[in-house]
Amino acid sequence: MKKSARWIVHTHVFRGDEYECSACGEVVSKPKKSCPNCGAVMKGSKSDLGWVDELEALDAFLDD
Ligand SMILES: [Zn+2]
Repeated sequence: MKKSARWIVHTHVFRGDEYECSACGEVVSKPKKSCPNCGAVMKGSKSDLGWVDELEALDAFLDD
């Protein structure tokens, strides 16, 4: 069974953005469909500032 995760975007001033796997913490320079380290299927990417809003939106969706 494949787990799912998403990329947490880390923006840097002097180098390119990095994408961190929310499942294992693997950091890659370009987001892929799945994590090269743990194999989690990615559901998208998200700024690390937007986690709370997204989780609340997911809760609202599941309650419907
Ligand atoms: Zn991973």
